[in-house]
Amino acid sequence: MKKIAVLTSGGDAPGMNAAIRAVVRSGIYYGLDVYGIFRGYSGLIQGEMKKLTLGSVGDIIHRGGTILYTARCEEFRTEAGRLKAVEKLKQAGIEGLIVIGGDGSFRGAQKLTQLGIPTIGVPGTIDNDIPSTDFTIGFDTAVNTVIRCIDQIRDTASSHERTYVVEVMGRDAGDIALWSGLGDGAESILIPEAHYHIDEIIHRLRRGYERDKKHSIIVVAEGVGSGVKIGEQIKESTGWETRVTVLGHIQRGGSPTAFDRILASRMGAKAVDLLRSGQKDQMIAIRNQDVMGIDFDVALAQKHIPNMDLYELAKILSI
Ligand code: ATP
Repeated sequence: MKKIAVLTSGGDAPGMNAAIRAVVRSGIYYGLDVYGIFRGYSGLIQGEMKKLTLGSVGDIIHRGGTILYTARCEEFRTEAGRLKAVEKLKQAGIEGLIVIGGDGSFRGAQKLTQLGIPTIGVPGTIDNDIPSTDFTIGFDTAVNTVIRCIDQIRDTASSHERTYVVEVMGRDAGDIALWSGLGDGAESILIPEAHYHIDEIIHRLRRGYERDKKHSIIVVAEGVGSGVKIGEQIKESTGWETRVTVLGHIQRGGSPTAFDRILASRMGAKAVDLLRSGQKDQMIAIRNQDVMGIDFDVALAQKHIPNMDLYELAKILSI
């Protein structure tokens, strides 16, 4: 194998740049030409690519977003679109592709492998919602961002003796809510994977109030429903002043944490190793600190479940 390429696809995540850097630098270290494809599958269909050098990925390890830009691409979902993509790769002499993105991007990657382009996926998404890996690139940074925001909200919450509902990202997976809620000592954490009763939340709030607690934080994953609505329900039941903050896209940006930079560096380099050793149709995962390749079929057949021990622990600690 002489030429490989890398692209980022789906939602951006902090640490994607560190992964691109690892792909490029370890590829060059092993004597490969490494191409960067811009704007995900959309750019691939258009043939938007250029050869990357050691310098092209300098000064990016600490930057959020992705220097290759990212996109969603409807055309790539069609066979005709994918054939155009394969044609562009073949014209450029590219023999292997690394796709940094979420599970949707991996389904596209699998189809490229079926069309004769060996492809490896690197999990990059803040949601941590990819099965078979303990962590995805960007998740740790997002959790730290949320924790910083909640710390600031907490200052106001305790000064004004208010209840705050904080809505965080996570349409299908409650990981961001769970980890940031536990890390921030939230009163209640609402995630899509666990049923909740508004009465129980209110009971916990009252219990805190009775022991003279000055503030309460409730973290809600967006997949559970609207934080605003939950805030209204609490206010109606208790009569207490309840404020709602929807954190939104602030969670997607920022400089990656040390954990994400190191994870991205390990995963990017591992993806190159797998392509060099003739592997394809796999995604990179980290499990119990080990970075490994897992067949897409096996990995994506699993269902992602957050660590529910953390959920139980959060309940115990917020007694
Ligand atoms: P995130 O969930 O973090 O946004 P993702 O990779 O899951 O990341 P998607 O929008 O699901 O994001 O997928 C990104 C792109 O991958 C799509 O725009 C499309 O081009 C391609 N893709 C997704 N699913 C498929 C599929 N089943 N077949 C072919 N291509 C797909």
